[in-house]
Amino acid sequence: MEDIVMDKTILCPSARPKSEDSVVFGIISGTVTEPRVAYLKQPLPITDELIAKASPITPAEIFRTAAPCAIKGCQHFDGNDCRLAMRIIEKLPAIVEELPPCSIRRDCRWWQQEGKAACMRCPQVITDNYNASELAVKVATPTSDYNKSKLNLFQQTYCNKNLHKEKIMSLENVQAFYAKLANDEAFRTHHLS
Ligand code: SF4
Repeated sequence: MEDIVMDKTILCPSARPKSEDSVVFGIISGTVTEPRVAYLKQPLPITDELIAKASPITPAEIFRTAAPCAIKGCQHFDGNDCRLAMRIIEKLPAIVEELPPCSIRRDCRWWQQEGKAACMRCPQVITDNYNASELAVKVATPTSDYNKSKLNLFQQTYCNKNLHKEKIMSLENVQAFYAKLANDEAFRTHHLS
């Protein structure tokens, strides 16, 4: 079996929270129907304490996390480029006019590949969004033949809302999360932009 080589110098800005060496660089803000990423002043290692604060929301619903790009180990990589970044540029609208204050920009795969166009769309990208629009699901879905087997898993994980009923982000859960952060002076002072 081919070894999967990670590029530790390039960060995937849409990594799963459990990826090796992952850091939180954004927190989902906005509204349940129009979620937006609030970027942290500096990346934050994921700890059990932070995950506990988010509970019962799962980390991928409330955090944007980055981790070293898995390159060939990723279902979105075509050998040269990140196809996910390309679909985001092609299909999603720009939603901000200025570059978001993002702490991982220098090392971000999407920024290096697509430049400002990726950043103008990035704040609407939520890793696990169980209220995702049809367009968002289409953008997130890998397209290459190589990934067809993985697609079934993807659909089970992301599209079967019934499987995740108890984890669907609710307004109450998000408000409870922000209430916990509001009491965490250190977090607010040092990390929220
Ligand atoms: S695309 Fe831009 S805003 Fe998004 S994570 Fe990369 S550098 Fe940050």
